[in-house]
Amino acid sequence: QHFPYDTIESNIPRQVPEFLLSAVAIKSFKNASVIHVNNALAKDLGLEKSVVKSNYIAKLLTGQQLDLQLKTYAMNYGGHQFGHWAGQLGDGRAIMLGGFETNLGLQYLQLKGSGPTPYSRRGDGFAVLRSSIREHLCSEAMHHLGIPTTRSLGISLTGEKVTRDPMYDGTIIQELGAMVCRVSPSFLRFGSFELPASRGDTTLLKNLLDYTIKTLFNHLLVVAQEKEPYLLLFKEICNETLTMVMHWQRVGFVHGVMNTDNMSVLGLTIDYGPYGWMDDYNPDWTPNTTDNQHKRYKYRSQPEIALWNLWKLANSFYLVIDDTNGLEKILDVYKSNYLVEQQAMMKAKLGLIDDHHADAKLIDSLLALLPVHPIDMTIFYRELIKVHGEMDHLTAWKIIHPAIYDIDIMPSSIKQQWLEWLQSYIDRIDRSSVFAKARAKKMRATNPKYVLRNYMAQLAIEAAEQGDYTIMSELFEMLKNPYSDQPAYDKWYARRPDWAINKPGCSQLSCSS
Ligand code: AMP
Ligand code: MG
Ligand code: MG
Repeated sequence: QHFPYDTIESNIPRQVPEFLLSAVAIKSFKNASVIHVNNALAKDLGLEKSVVKSNYIAKLLTGQQLDLQLKTYAMNYGGHQFGHWAGQLGDGRAIMLGGFETNLGLQYLQLKGSGPTPYSRRGDGFAVLRSSIREHLCSEAMHHLGIPTTRSLGISLTGEKVTRDPMYDGTIIQELGAMVCRVSPSFLRFGSFELPASRGDTTLLKNLLDYTIKTLFNHLLVVAQEKEPYLLLFKEICNETLTMVMHWQRVGFVHGVMNTDNMSVLGLTIDYGPYGWMDDYNPDWTPNTTDNQHKRYKYRSQPEIALWNLWKLANSFYLVIDDTNGLEKILDVYKSNYLVEQQAMMKAKLGLIDDHHADAKLIDSLLALLPVHPIDMTIFYRELIKVHGEMDHLTAWKIIHPAIYDIDIMPSSIKQQWLEWLQSYIDRIDRSSVFAKARAKKMRATNPKYVLRNYMAQLAIEAAEQGDYTIMSELFEMLKNPYSDQPAYDKWYARRPDWAINKPGCSQLSCSS
């Protein structure tokens, strides 16, 4: 805790004008129990070695910090929610256990769902089992996909009930309370900078910027003989953010709530709420029912929303930067980089390793064709690996069949367009100087075979709510190797079943958590 902090240990909701942190105690859960530990992460963190006390992880995961003597606290931040400045938000239900020197460097641990804080506003500070399972599974799935993310050390039940209205239709139910132990080198968000900026508190803003550079971007100190280290920092944040979003686009992940308080300063995927993976490729899809009207956070908008969020961050940096043209230039670079990255990502998905003048056309025609009749994004790219340059287009067509939904009602004109596209793809890879093997390798490393579709998470949740954690554990294991063929798990390599289309939680879901 490098900052002066608010020491009033009270959970009464309040504005905290001067501080970045508030001391807050975790509620004591007498009947808490651990349901799943991420042993690989515990080992990577070095927790087993560094801690002599037995049962330490269980204590961390169940919030029994009292005898661990941790100085727990909640972070203060603001944010733009759905395009509007929302003022102070802060950790309303996540409590920091502190920073730990680990085998992975300095890592912060926090318990999400561990009770009220000064930032709980009208919320209760708790989290339900279903949303905790979704975060636990998805953050680890993302990690193994090679996508920057916060991690999950484990999940526990609080032993208490939580009241929720999951459908937002007035049907109130009692659900199981749960906690996820999140792990990250930093939980700073864009909103952490926006809040002091909004209050004109340049002292806190500068402190925070200096701290961020020193602790998270200290490689910048070497080059920062320059006058504007904050500008360098901003550029890094833009780059990391773009990298993260391009990964999302690559695998078909839709975050669902890209508010600036959910944007990590390190470009980590953070805050797993009503996220989802696209089943059938539809760039206008959002998993978040709360966003159905405007679809602000739909798949195709994610890169530009990230840019919009970076503009908001730039507005905060603006207060303490002299070279304001510099900020705009960096944002322009984001735009040009985005176009380059987008093209490179699509080429990697198609396994096009060398350059050909007609590649842009091939990619554009595919992206235009994919949404016309429902076709599964994950399965399409994965099956496309099997197509090769010597093949005729009818054989290639049969290869991508498993990706197509409702194939018997596909209009023949669309089938014709697919045959034409496949022919141009076959011609392209035939003419390529690169060996088919290299192409397949590239495609296998770019196009995951196993992703956490919402219906899969929902099946794990429904079983877990009955005390059966086998599906959760199975998915957790499978998602450790998303790019490898794992025949034992191939029942999960399938199109979304029809029953899941309109079932709550299985395709779209609300923000209730
Ligand atoms: P999110 O949409 O998940 O990013 O949450 C937005 C804000 O609401 C954050 O400040 C959260 O800490 C807070 N929040 C969400 N759910 C709860 C809850 N059940 N109790 C208290 N605060 C919450
Ligand atoms: Mg959030
Ligand atoms: Mg959330």
